[in-house]
Amino acid sequence: MMIETMTGNIGKTEFAQMFTQAAACIRSEHQRLTELDSIGGDGDHGTTMLRAAEQMEDWPDGSSTQSLGDLLKAAGWRVLGVDGGASSGLLGTFFAGMGDIELGQHTMNCSQLAQSLQAGLRAVSRQTKARPGDKTMMDALTPAVDAVSAAAGAGKTIPEALDDAALAAKLGAESTRNLVARYGRARSLGERTRGHPDAGATTIALIFRGFREGLGEGSVSHG
Ligand code: ADP
Ligand code: MG
Repeated sequence: MMIETMTGNIGKTEFAQMFTQAAACIRSEHQRLTELDSIGGDGDHGTTMLRAAEQMEDWPDGSSTQSLGDLLKAAGWRVLGVDGGASSGLLGTFFAGMGDIELGQHTMNCSQLAQSLQAGLRAVSRQTKARPGDKTMMDALTPAVDAVSAAAGAGKTIPEALDDAALAAKLGAESTRNLVARYGRARSLGERTRGHPDAGATTIALIFRGFREGLGEGSVSHG
């Protein structure tokens, strides 16, 4: 793989690595995800996310001529097709929404990545009324996506931006611990959900950690 330290762009090779590592992070924590969903929901979140992880690892090889938008949409639709709860639908919507970018694009710089993530967030926001503070995955997703936009605006590299996003998602997920659920199955449990972080927000933190780890140390290569 050719390293083009000057461009700082990411392409399909990097996206495949990011999604594969995000899936690996989900795999290693799936029991914890199920535990958290057992407290606030019906205990199926870890299993559903394992199925999603399987789809996230399934990227076509580098010889494909598909654009990044097409690849992200395809990845999103595969996750949308996962049999399971609300979370796989929302996560698939996020990935597919990330593909709503300029047609034919094969690489992204940091501000294009920010635009792609914002498009994903907008797509999810059309599917749910939940917003940060409602104790759902939005509490991790929104600050993570906004962190990439802020980093891009500050002229940071993609690895730096994803460092910021991973931290924002982690803090966002932790912040749900003291909240009471207002959406999803956990809603009916009210006060009983206080004291434990939301399962879906914890998944989002794992995904952004994986995105960052998937790029490896320092510079990134050209897809
Ligand atoms: P289900 O709740 O259908 O069993 P999962 O257990 O897989 O689905 O996922 C639960 C997670 O999905 C929750 O912790 C929450 O983060 C997220 N979630 C569920 N419903 C919603 C919603 N309406 N809006 C946003 N996020 C939601
Ligand atoms: Mg559940």
